[in-house]
Amino acid sequence: MPPPGDNVLTNTQNAVKEALSRLGYDDVVYELLKEPIRVLTVRIPVRMDNGETQVFTGYRAQHNDAIGPTKGGIRFHPSVTLDEVKALSIWMSLKCGIFGLPYGGAKGGIICDPREMSIKEQERLARGYVRAVSQIVGPAKDIPAPDIYTNPQIMAWMYDEYSRIKELDSPNFITGKPIVLGGSRGREKATALGVYIAMREAAHKLGRDVHDLTVMVQGFGNVGSNLALILHELGIKVIGISDAGGGLYHPEGLQIPDLIDQKDSFGMVTPAYQNVLSNEEFLVQPCDVLIPAALENQIHSGNAEDIKASIVVEAANGPTTPKADEILTHKGVLLIPDVLANAGGVTVSYFEWVQNNQGWYWTEEEVNQRMEEMMVKSVQTILQTADRYRVTTRLAAYMVGVRPFAEAMRWRGWM
Ligand code: GLU
Repeated sequence: MPPPGDNVLTNTQNAVKEALSRLGYDDVVYELLKEPIRVLTVRIPVRMDNGETQVFTGYRAQHNDAIGPTKGGIRFHPSVTLDEVKALSIWMSLKCGIFGLPYGGAKGGIICDPREMSIKEQERLARGYVRAVSQIVGPAKDIPAPDIYTNPQIMAWMYDEYSRIKELDSPNFITGKPIVLGGSRGREKATALGVYIAMREAAHKLGRDVHDLTVMVQGFGNVGSNLALILHELGIKVIGISDAGGGLYHPEGLQIPDLIDQKDSFGMVTPAYQNVLSNEEFLVQPCDVLIPAALENQIHSGNAEDIKASIVVEAANGPTTPKADEILTHKGVLLIPDVLANAGGVTVSYFEWVQNNQGWYWTEEEVNQRMEEMMVKSVQTILQTADRYRVTTRLAAYMVGVRPFAEAMRWRGWM
């Protein structure tokens, strides 16, 4: 377990502060960016299948709307907290800032365990959440999307509920929808594809051929499983994967398509196996590239020293603590930070919103090619910024990510 005291919000605020001060901005910019501009806490009554009503707590945090409407996913998870949702909303702003998307960041979360809820209960919860937050969300206000344990089906119910409330068909209210309801081709795999492109560029920076690298992926949900499959299909050896139950490790490479056939909708695959490593054992196995694609604070001061990988690509949001960052930097590990590596997801969400606004739909090749161009350019920008300012890749990403917000707020006359 990670040592206590790693509050993701405090850690994020410290990094934003450092980035702003390196860029020479006044304290007032930090005052405006350290917390979301708007946070709503809601209580959602849900009639459970046994006839009883259970009341769930949900949040929506909108970090900054100086550039445009806010954007970010909704997670369904028992460990959701208000601080986590706030930090996630700040990270969304940084992703949009780095990729030049016309949005600020937002995030939503509901404290619940969908693994223990029926489909009908999940539907009632999803619809109840939309009713509860409907006044502050919308196509030109705040556009939700999937996150941990939410998926196209949940987006479809939310879209339906919102359209009923507004008495207006509103596909541009939410992204990550099924394709037949206005979802974008390529959206489901976008985060994973973006992570692969970021990994390929990182390998390039080190003068390595991506095909010669061995990879471990922590987490087998939407991002982890799609990424493992993309790598496998490219002939890149995936030697470790893990889920909430632990990890499988095989130095000769795992049969990813078989594992995907076996996994349930929450990414669980290990229960059918013996020789499952604990999460802590898993992370320190030998490999060239480690890709955390699960929850926050996985690489921490207690295990960073033992990580064997020379490249870490953060597919998850916030998987590395600041102390671990220092240790990895000291060890010479090339780290591609979350707000850069996993932003292929929100980028294709932006494409989805553009397509919904225009009613004109793109091919998967067009989507992937446009996202790839933006990812390659963003990785180059961050690596160059890190070299130029002699800072870590994470600090470089924060510097590039916050700057458009500081400028937009100045133009608007907020300070
Ligand atoms: N939840 C995803 C993220 O953390 C996607 C957000 C979006 O597509 O708006 O980046």
